Amino acid sequence: MEIEIATIGGYEEVGRQMTAVRAGNDIVIFDMGLNLSKVLIHDNIQTEGMHSLDLIDMGAIPDDRVMSDLDGEVRAIVPTHGHLDHIGAISKLAHRYDAPVVATPFTLELVKGEVEDEQKFSFDNDLIEMDAGETMQIGDHGLELEFVNVTHSIVQAINPVLHTPEGAIVYGLDKRMDHTPVIGAPIDMKRFREIGREGNGVLCYIEDCTNANKQGRTPSENVAREHLRDTLYSMEDYTGGIVATTFSSHIARVKSLVEFAREIGRQPILLGRSMDHYSGTAQQVGIDFPSDVPMFGYRQAIDQTFERIMNDGKGNFLPVVTGHQGEPRAMLTRMARGETNYELDDGDKVVFSARVIPEPTNEGQRYQAEKLLGMQGARVYSDVHVSGHLCQEGHYEMLDALQPQHVIPAHQDLNGFSGYVDLASDQGYALGRDLHVTSNGNIMQLV
Ligand SMILES: [Zn+2]
Repeated sequence: MEIEIATIGGYEEVGRQMTAVRAGNDIVIFDMGLNLSKVLIHDNIQTEGMHSLDLIDMGAIPDDRVMSDLDGEVRAIVPTHGHLDHIGAISKLAHRYDAPVVATPFTLELVKGEVEDEQKFSFDNDLIEMDAGETMQIGDHGLELEFVNVTHSIVQAINPVLHTPEGAIVYGLDKRMDHTPVIGAPIDMKRFREIGREGNGVLCYIEDCTNANKQGRTPSENVAREHLRDTLYSMEDYTGGIVATTFSSHIARVKSLVEFAREIGRQPILLGRSMDHYSGTAQQVGIDFPSDVPMFGYRQAIDQTFERIMNDGKGNFLPVVTGHQGEPRAMLTRMARGETNYELDDGDKVVFSARVIPEPTNEGQRYQAEKLLGMQGARVYSDVHVSGHLCQEGHYEMLDALQPQHVIPAHQDLNGFSGYVDLASDQGYALGRDLHVTSNGNIMQLV
C-alpha cells in the first residue's frame, strides 16, 4: 500500500498545524490550525468574515492547495486538541472536504464554537465524538484510526494513530509526559510501547518539537499546581487586592486557581470573554471543574462585577482574568491602564500563571503590561507555570517507546528543530534517510 505524508502547515513555525496522510486511496487530515500571531500583528483584524485565500496569503492558515496532489478520498479531519493553532482553520478549510471532524468531546465543542462564529463559509461536515482509547475504521482497506491519551496544557488532548498494513503512523502533536495531571488520566505510555512493538511497528512518527532545544524533562501539571499553592498561600494574610491570570484554555490551571482562592478565603470570579468561553465549555461537557464558580464574559457584567468587588472589599475576592500575554484588549491590560473600576493599590498582587510566549510581539506587550501594573503599585509574580510540551528527555522516551522507522519533526521552525535533529541522530537516525526535516507544502512518499 502506498503511504504518503503531506506536511501542509506548522513545519516552518509554531502555528497553523496541518498534516495529511494518504494510505492507498484513503486520506486522513490531522489538525487545521491558525497562526494567531500572523493575525494579531495587524491591528484589530476580524478573521470571521475573511476568505481563506486571503488568510493563506497572510500565512495565518495552512495552504491546503497541495491536497490536490494527493490521489485519494479524505475520510476524516482529526484535530488533536482544542488549541487554536490546531483547530482555528477548520471554519475556513473543512467545508472543502466531504469528511467528518473526529475529536474528543471538549475539542469538538470548541470546534462547534469556531464554526458558529464563522461568517464567510458554511460548515456542514459531520461531527463525530471519539474518546481516548477508542478506534474507528477508515475506508474499506483495513485502516484504523486510534486515539491514544496524552497530557497537554488543555484537557482531552490525544495523539491520533493511523494503523495501516505498512505500520502505524503516529501523529505526536502536542503533549508532555505527565503521570500526575490535575485533570484526566496520565499519558498512556503503555499503549505507545505496545504500538511500537505490534504488527509492523511504527512506520512514521511526527513529533512536537516546541521544546526540543530544552534539556531535561517537562514537569507535571502537579508541579505548577504546588507552585501556585505556595504562591497564593504566601498571600493568605494580605487584605488587599489579588488578581491572577493564565491561559483561558488551561482548564486544569484555572481549576487550581479557583480552588486555592477559596482555600485562602477569597471568592474566585472568572472574567473576560475567553475565560467564560473555555471554562463554560468545560462545565458543559462534564469535565472535573467547579460547577459553582461565577464567570462573566460580557463588558456590562464585568463592569458590574468590578463595582461589586470594590464595594464589598477587594480582600474578599480573587478575580482570574484574561491578559497573560499583555494582550492590549484583554482584561488585565485594561486594569493596568486604569480603564476598569478595579483600582490597584500599592502592594496589591498580580500572579501570572503563564510564561511569556517567546515572540517579539508578546514580549513587548507583556513588558508593557507589567510596567503599567508596577506603576499602579502592584507586585508582579511571573512564570508560575510549567510548559505543556516535551523537553529532550521526553523526546528520548518517545523514540524508545515507539521505535519508528521514520521521524518527521514538526511544530517549530528550522532553528527549533536543531535540538531534535541532534537527539534523533544520537539515537541512530540520519537526516535525509529516516529523519526528515521538511517544510510546509511538501509531500513525502514513505512506501
Ligand atoms: Zn497545543
